[in-house]
Amino acid sequence: MNKEEIDLHASLKKYFGFSKFKGLQESVIKSLVSGDNTFVIMPTGGGKSLCYQLPALIEEGTAIIVSPLIALMKNQVDAIRAVSQHDGVAHVLNSSLNKTEIKQVKEDIKSGITKLLYVAPESLTKEENVEFLRSVTISFMAVDEAHCISEWGHDFRPEYRNLRHIIKRIGDNIPIIGLTATATPKVQEDILKSLDITDANTFKASFNRPNLYYEVRPKTKNVDADIIRFVKLNEGKSGIIYCLSRKRVEELAQVLQVNGIKAVPYHAGLDAKTRVKHQDMFLMEDVDVVVATIAFGMGIDKPDVRFVIHHDIPKSIESYYQETGRAGRDGGEGHCLAFYAYKDIEKLEKFMSGKPVAEQEIGHALLQEVVAFAESSLSRRRFILHYFGEEFDNETGEGGDMDDNVRYPKKQHEAQDNVVV
Ligand code: ADP
Ligand code: MG
Repeated sequence: MNKEEIDLHASLKKYFGFSKFKGLQESVIKSLVSGDNTFVIMPTGGGKSLCYQLPALIEEGTAIIVSPLIALMKNQVDAIRAVSQHDGVAHVLNSSLNKTEIKQVKEDIKSGITKLLYVAPESLTKEENVEFLRSVTISFMAVDEAHCISEWGHDFRPEYRNLRHIIKRIGDNIPIIGLTATATPKVQEDILKSLDITDANTFKASFNRPNLYYEVRPKTKNVDADIIRFVKLNEGKSGIIYCLSRKRVEELAQVLQVNGIKAVPYHAGLDAKTRVKHQDMFLMEDVDVVVATIAFGMGIDKPDVRFVIHHDIPKSIESYYQETGRAGRDGGEGHCLAFYAYKDIEKLEKFMSGKPVAEQEIGHALLQEVVAFAESSLSRRRFILHYFGEEFDNETGEGGDMDDNVRYPKKQHEAQDNVVV
């Protein structure tokens, strides 16, 4: 190790208590601290935050971190404050602060104490904030959840579109690091263009999750019974069941309860207190199963979720990947079971019909991929990874036989059944 590497490892230990970098972290950090634009694509849980937090802590000046979710910003700020001498080391700048608080934030930045300043993109459009940030030393800008820039991403935020313009105003030569867990080539291209960092050093981690088993079954009117049977076979294990509608969530949770399964519902229509209660019951293992809409999962880190069931097929491969990705975080078993009926695709198409045409076209294209995936008789892992621009050989790749199609090839089955001896 050279001096720079020794220093980085020392800082990793000092600030985060880790003795090793995870995956591509060290290369990413070296790229950023050398002043290059940098682009990071890593699956959720890959350790993206540290790629900007560590450089921010060791560089001169303040790093600006753009992030779409206030709750996530607060979590990060608390975590960093906990390992630092001074609360001013990290701040959030948003509309909820009063005058005195804003004054304090600005003083801390000017005095050089603040190493990380988290901002929502809306706050950056405020003229007074831009003016202020122009007048202080900025180490770099990090754009977390950078897929929010792209209409092809799952979480498009129009305010993200202006970021390049604002960053240029804050300073001309500020290095930019963009980070996302969205791996589709289209979204990546959008991010690089929109942030004007096509020169960026790009670091992409593999999206393969070798411990997850992928399975798609036809959805019939007996789907509830199928789910009950599956959950009973996996008694005592933690699982998430995703449904499209709140109504279905409530119904299915009840059906499971009646059948002696410890389950709770979770969706955005429940009051905040109930949501927190049900989430905690799942985390504390008072219940085995949470039946939920996609409102459940963001930022939830239960390492030993053993199955994720899709009662309704998701609207994109990305959503499917994110949601199934909540299984087997600890590296142990994770069974991903999706129920599929073409009828549900038509339902999803219908939901979009009120939207602007451009949005409908994108939605339709994304759904066609879901159909292709669900109806495929080839390696599911290979399909998913190909979708993310990654070549995968299921003969040699890790987890290559971990799906229904590879393990129980359909064509041969049918062929055998038809053989008349
Ligand atoms: P992402 O933003 O990519 O989804 P996070 O930044 O939230 O991932 O990190 C996921 C988890 O990995 C966190 O619990 C974090 O503390 C942990 N982590 C990050 N870097 C390391 C490391 N070098 N060694 C061990 N754990 C790490
Ligand atoms: Mg993150």
